Amino acid sequence: MSQFDIDLFVIGAGSGGVRAARIAAGYGAKVMIAEEYRVGGTCVIRGCVPKKLMVYASRYSHEFEEAAGFGWDVGEPRFDWETLIRNKDREIDRLEGIYRTNLEKAGVEIVNSRAVIEDNHTVHVLATGERIRARYILVAVGAHPTLEPVIPGGELGITSNEVFHLKELPKRIMIVGGGYIAVEFAGVFAGLGSEVTLLHRGDKLLRGFDDDVREALGAAYAHRGINLALGRTATRLDKTPDGIAATLSDGSVVTVDQVLVATGRRPNTAGLGLETVGIAVDEVGAIPVDSYSQTLIPSVYAVGDVTNRANLTPIAIREGHAFADTVFGDRPTIVDHDLIPTAVFSTPEIGVIGCSEAAAWSRYGDIDVYKTAFRPMKATLSGAQDRVLMKLIVDKATDRVVGVHIVGHDAGEMIQLAGVAVTMGATKADFDRTVAVHPTASEELVTMR
Ligand code: NDP
Repeated sequence: MSQFDIDLFVIGAGSGGVRAARIAAGYGAKVMIAEEYRVGGTCVIRGCVPKKLMVYASRYSHEFEEAAGFGWDVGEPRFDWETLIRNKDREIDRLEGIYRTNLEKAGVEIVNSRAVIEDNHTVHVLATGERIRARYILVAVGAHPTLEPVIPGGELGITSNEVFHLKELPKRIMIVGGGYIAVEFAGVFAGLGSEVTLLHRGDKLLRGFDDDVREALGAAYAHRGINLALGRTATRLDKTPDGIAATLSDGSVVTVDQVLVATGRRPNTAGLGLETVGIAVDEVGAIPVDSYSQTLIPSVYAVGDVTNRANLTPIAIREGHAFADTVFGDRPTIVDHDLIPTAVFSTPEIGVIGCSEAAAWSRYGDIDVYKTAFRPMKATLSGAQDRVLMKLIVDKATDRVVGVHIVGHDAGEMIQLAGVAVTMGATKADFDRTVAVHPTASEELVTMR
């Protein structure tokens, strides 16, 4: 009789945990997965998926405006928040069902409970009081948005967890932060008709992105009427008869109906029992792991946002898959965190793979930069002021394209494909000999000289 009840206990049924559980079960492992909230995790339940649906909703206003130049008269469009939220919730329920079914089909046992580590091989299932002995434990509990920095009245703010369930569309909203979540929701609410103030402590949005990208987004947002409050922070929030009054560091006061705080996320490691097995978290609360996602304790692994490597769904999925291949598939697999294509679903959208110009100078020494900015064809008839920016960074020594940056409609779709070429090590000469698809915006990627 084995000393273990099961082969793998996964804590957290988000992107990383679900993938790991299914693949491990496919290798014949006996797997249990515990989830205290909803199966699907941040991405499906309160992240990428509902966000993208709201991004789609928000872009219709621009489409309606553009339609006139093409001969359409769409009348006076009206938007109904309740319909959007109801339909979005129905889709999330459907996806959650699919996630559950897929786990069950794979033979994974789902436990609807919080689970806490008790020793190197034991997990305590709080809902039932059961203690499960597992050969391996995988921590895939993700992260949560914070209401930081802590300021007087800060609790009047909401996070991205609550924004998906607002009872009504705020007429005026302040969004705090300049990262992915802040710029995405600024675009969403501006498109839906809210008056948006984007409050960011830096002088440009999206720190770490290429400077041209950051400037292009800032210019586009200013043009869309988003009030960019840069180089400032909120010092207090007060409830007033007219809404929430936010006092800013320059002494000005902005009154809004909602304050969305998007100043980062923290790993969900509190109260997980990590200290009982001697796993110390880092300064932001993340679990340190090696390139196989193994912690200091050989039987305990961790994947996804709880490890704070690259906090993106496809990376959590890869890490979960690689873990299962390594431990149960006899195929040790490392996830490459170097070249990650990514999209920011702002409007205009951003797609990036590889180095920014500044990072490429320090990494490669000598680089060539190709850049184009143009008005997309659709804007010629619609009269929209939309712009597209494309930029290639090329390592001079090898001619390899080491950075692609796109700002404009469908940049996320474009960067996925450009990402294949860059991942394969394409050179600028390879881009040049690729025949253009005409007329598209992406043809500029292969015609820049
Ligand atoms: P980010 O880390 O991207 O951005 C946090 C922002 O908050 C930064 O602009 C930061 O400023 C600012 N900030 C941090 N602390 C403070 C503070 N004390 N006072 C004022 N401002 C502060 O976090 P997000 O919450 O936007 O997103 C979390 C992660 O989720 C992202 O990093 C990304 O990995 C993932 N994500 C990915 C998406 C996608 O792939 N499309 C979409 C949404 C999220 P500064 O720049 O000065 O540090």
